[in-house]
Amino acid sequence: MPFSIAIHGGAGTILREQMTPELQHAIEADLEKSVRCGFEILRSGGLAIDAVTAAVKVLEDSPHFNAGRGSVLTNQEMVEMDASIMDGRGKKAGAVAGVRHIRHPIELAKAVMQDSEHVFLIGEGAESFAFERDFPYTEQDYFYTDRRYEQLLSMKEKGLFALSESSYPDDKKYGTVGAVALDNNGNLASATSTGGITNKKYGRVGDSAVIGAGTWAENGVVAVSTTGMGEHFLQENVAADVAARVRYLQETIECAAEHIVQGELKARGGEGGLIAMDKCGNAHFAMNSSGMYRAMINTQGECKIKIYADQD
Ligand code: ASP
Repeated sequence: MPFSIAIHGGAGTILREQMTPELQHAIEADLEKSVRCGFEILRSGGLAIDAVTAAVKVLEDSPHFNAGRGSVLTNQEMVEMDASIMDGRGKKAGAVAGVRHIRHPIELAKAVMQDSEHVFLIGEGAESFAFERDFPYTEQDYFYTDRRYEQLLSMKEKGLFALSESSYPDDKKYGTVGAVALDNNGNLASATSTGGITNKKYGRVGDSAVIGAGTWAENGVVAVSTTGMGEHFLQENVAADVAARVRYLQETIECAAEHIVQGELKARGGEGGLIAMDKCGNAHFAMNSSGMYRAMINTQGECKIKIYADQD
């Protein structure tokens, strides 16, 4: 049976003219490390759900992406992270939102899925659940980077909130992370993790924590992980809508994903993209932004890493 994995590191990308070779190399190295880590699990006969978790954890550890270490800062100068995961076997799901002291929010979302009768836990409750299961307490300092602090100050000055990737023409642009995979038993899985948007207030939660909007996996149909301004993805229920098109209209993942990302989503001003994987392990990357950090290892074992939208 074929197996494959695809990952993203967020939609919207640093402008070409501002990308240095060193920075590009560092981003690509982390993307490659992530996709290879997931692929090794699949190659040794592991489950898609474990492959997507492992791939996302690598990106949560990298300061180059808006998830785990390197997450954007809230208006209160804190890190508050959201994550969700779905196993295509039986459509089991787990999610957490607004967690502040968990090094790998995706691991916690997985624990909610596997070890509770719930699907979605938030804030202090989610952290209590974690610490009861021996997740280590991670200080806020661990997640903090100077770049995110500068971005927050600039957003506060302008009175805006924004995606990590947008509105920083003179800054580095990094994003939310996610992975989709097919294992050699035909199981699909999807995972998404984020710090959300810079300068967010009032416990704002985006699509990345929401099953159906940011994450979906259904065996025999599709696995999807999204990235972009979450408010639009929530209102279009993007990941589940891609799945519905594949399930009911028998569309290819390319057709379903492009329909939504270039159609409904774009029409309402929703900038961003998604990664989708079908039941045969084909991946499609759809975006209406200038780029999306992305990588995949296909069923032939070939690794591809890309940044800009116009790269083929
Ligand atoms: N979708 C995320 C959110 O709105 C942000 C992102 O994808 O960068 O929280």
